[in-house]
Amino acid sequence: MDAMIQLIHVSKCYDRRAALSDVTLEIEKGEFVLLMGPSGAGKSTLLRMLIGEEQPDEGQIFVQGRNVTKLKQSEVPSLRRKVGSVFQDFRLLPKKSVFENVALPLIVQGASTGDIRRKVTEALRAVGVDHKKDQSPNSLSAGERQRVCIARAIVNGPIVLLADEPTGNLDLDRTAEIIELFKLINARGTTVIVATHDPHVMTQVNRRVITLMQGAMVPEQRVGV
Ligand code: ADP
Repeated sequence: MDAMIQLIHVSKCYDRRAALSDVTLEIEKGEFVLLMGPSGAGKSTLLRMLIGEEQPDEGQIFVQGRNVTKLKQSEVPSLRRKVGSVFQDFRLLPKKSVFENVALPLIVQGASTGDIRRKVTEALRAVGVDHKKDQSPNSLSAGERQRVCIARAIVNGPIVLLADEPTGNLDLDRTAEIIELFKLINARGTTVIVATHDPHVMTQVNRRVITLMQGAMVPEQRVGV
């Protein structure tokens, strides 16, 4: 079986309120999946668990066959190298250049200068913002900033790319461009999971939709144009 991600009876409560209840799902290697559901449905909680930022109260989570349910702090970095993430609010460092922002994950790992230059240049080219590499993220448009975030998320060549409401701060045209970029990254073999409550994203991605409502999974459907 080629499961990239497996959740088995995963539940999580905050203050006795269920953020996720009994979620069981499987995402295959190379899939592009939309995680839909209204605000508060549990989408971010699920994604945070896949990068070891949260742990379930019950159930098991596997990423590429590896149980990530109870990772030690020292095991989190290797998971983050495998699973890149992109957020609605960008999380870029304003005092660092575009190049430096994208280089950060590599610097943290102690990569060589040559490796950093090569990989960052490649990632910035892949998302179409290499000409902005010396600028501050603050001088970029929202769409360009999100491209920089995507470059930072793919600079390590992750096997999975997670995006949490990546188009939440973008207009319709920019949303379409960013979704196209995710499709390209997916076409090169990366498993992509996009969490969104935006129906426009759904109309652009004719792929599997996993819907959460109040922490529980709604039976699966396939939608799109
Ligand atoms: P979504 O991403 O679909 O908007 P979330 O996963 O952010 O949903 O939230 C699911 C539920 O869990 C919500 O009721 C939210 O208020 C709650 N929640 C999420 N994170 C926390 C937290 N760190 N502390 C307390 N409650 C939280």
